[in-house]
Amino acid sequence: MDKDQMKITTIAFDGDDTLWHHENYFSETKARFHTLMNELGDYPDAEEQASERHIANIPLWGYGVKSFTLAMVETAITLTSGKIIGSDIERIMDIGRSLYEHPVILLDHVAETIQALHGQYRLLLITKGDLLAQEMKIAQSKLAPFFEGIEIVSEKNVETYERVFKRYGLKAGEVLMVGNSVKSDILPPIMLGAQAIHIPYYVTWKYEQVETTETEQGKFMVLPDIKELPRALQEIEKNSI
Ligand SMILES: [Mg+2]
Repeated sequence: MDKDQMKITTIAFDGDDTLWHHENYFSETKARFHTLMNELGDYPDAEEQASERHIANIPLWGYGVKSFTLAMVETAITLTSGKIIGSDIERIMDIGRSLYEHPVILLDHVAETIQALHGQYRLLLITKGDLLAQEMKIAQSKLAPFFEGIEIVSEKNVETYERVFKRYGLKAGEVLMVGNSVKSDILPPIMLGAQAIHIPYYVTWKYEQVETTETEQGKFMVLPDIKELPRALQEIEKNSI
């Protein structure tokens, strides 16, 4: 990170795979779809095809469970050349539905870290995905009272962060964004002049994987665990003006 940064007043957190587990459930869902399809026939790339269709549909249907469920149904129709029967479509719908029903499990050390930072910094949550699914996760996480603002957005690009920072009257330089996706949580805010800390989750969705240049890597910190965040902030504070 650069020296002589502005003092951090605000920490913005990503939700999925930063505060609570998510991608592991998605991987499980994809595997269940794959198993179901291969009960119906020989479809070795069923999982891959559903994933590709989900990504291709993002501009139309966005991120999240509902659009992935539609992608599974579409894939099943294509792979079976339209022969899949209603009761099997229903089984696919049930697989999608179960993604909504899993409990929200916070990552280790999240609750105590958020509590410790609350009061010292203004905390924001910036998360993307299905509006309803994200609202349910936030409610179940019991973290909402610690955030001064919660933004559920359809995409996390430079324009999104610019809009959010403006809404809260923030200069980019006083914001630290924390998240598991370099593509969505790290690169757009640093392009605006914010600071960012990457905390990788053990599995990254293919769509969120991105190559970074050495220059980009020099602009953000990587931490193995959110519990290191308060100490990292002390380091940043030492270098701030
Ligand atoms: Mg995430």
